[in-house]
Amino acid sequence: MLPEIENLLRLQDADKEIRRLQEEIAELPKRVAAIEQRLAGTKAQLEKAQASVKADEATRRKHDTTISDLRGKISKYRDQSLDVKTNDQYKALLHEIQFAEKEIAATEDRILELMLNADAREKEVKAAQAELKAETAEIEKEKAAARERTAEDEKQLAEWRAKRDQMRAGVSEDLLRHYERVSKFRGSGISEVRDHKCMACQVMLRPQIYNDVRTGQQTVICDSCQRILYFNPANEMQAVEPEHKRVRRHHPKIDAPQAWYYREEFGGDGEVLLCLTNAGGQASRRVFDMHTGRFIGDILIREGDYRQAFPEDITGAIRLNGSWREDDMETWGAEMPMTALDSLHSDLEAARYEMNSRPAKSQSPAPVTTEHAAS
Ligand SMILES: [Zn+2]
Repeated sequence: MLPEIENLLRLQDADKEIRRLQEEIAELPKRVAAIEQRLAGTKAQLEKAQASVKADEATRRKHDTTISDLRGKISKYRDQSLDVKTNDQYKALLHEIQFAEKEIAATEDRILELMLNADAREKEVKAAQAELKAETAEIEKEKAAARERTAEDEKQLAEWRAKRDQMRAGVSEDLLRHYERVSKFRGSGISEVRDHKCMACQVMLRPQIYNDVRTGQQTVICDSCQRILYFNPANEMQAVEPEHKRVRRHHPKIDAPQAWYYREEFGGDGEVLLCLTNAGGQASRRVFDMHTGRFIGDILIREGDYRQAFPEDITGAIRLNGSWREDDMETWGAEMPMTALDSLHSDLEAARYEMNSRPAKSQSPAPVTTEHAAS
């Protein structure tokens, strides 16, 4: 492996770690803000309870004043009653006194009510105070932990940045620029090659490119995703070794009403997946981009069985396992779902593996994976 590539790999690790730390640091103030918002809620509750107590106290004072005013009136009426000349005047004063006494009794009832309420209010305030105290302690602890974490993250970030600068110094300017441009758009700028494939974009490499990557004498870039390619012999060994562990590939039925095919090239659209379906004496054809699963063109319908209707499409194509219901496919829209695309990709990989591992001398007739036009 070129030393430059080794540096780039370490640089990519550093970039990843730096991004992670930056995200974590950005997250912490949000956490602290959420904690403080919770505290503000409890504080508001306490203030409300305290305000209620104060309001009750004011009402109580007002009632006390009312009672003492009424008592003052009563004693005034009593004094006056000593000086009255007529029976009527006396009766009128007596009536005033009775009225005031009734008022006093009613006000005393209200005070009693307030006193009963005060107990409940007192409990509310005490509970809110206790909650606030507990929460404040908890929050101070959480904030301290967040601050500590941020400080530690920032320390690590500085270290990683220093390491990154060192690694950048070990890569040529042109390659570094390319790496950074691709990283910016794709999230990573370098990709491993395994099994003749770019592991990042899963596209098969042309043999010449693959050889160049393997020999590791020059920097090679993936035609499809533009990432810088590298080869790690240790990983390639692992990928090929557990041959016996590979599950035998299930072969698609020859007479299935729906058949999927892979073509390396199709009408200038590059690699595609074809879906051919027989229904009601007619055959339909859908074309999808191999890498994105994007639906290309329109559904093409011809008379007859798809083998007779689209012989030129099947010739030299690789037959794949796959079957989806017509009404499900109607809902796919412009793109097939990732699960469908993934399953076709992995079956294609298995089919290729099967073709490569088949003994070369064997002249077995009509390989199941590659079909020829029906004669
Ligand atoms: Zn690629």
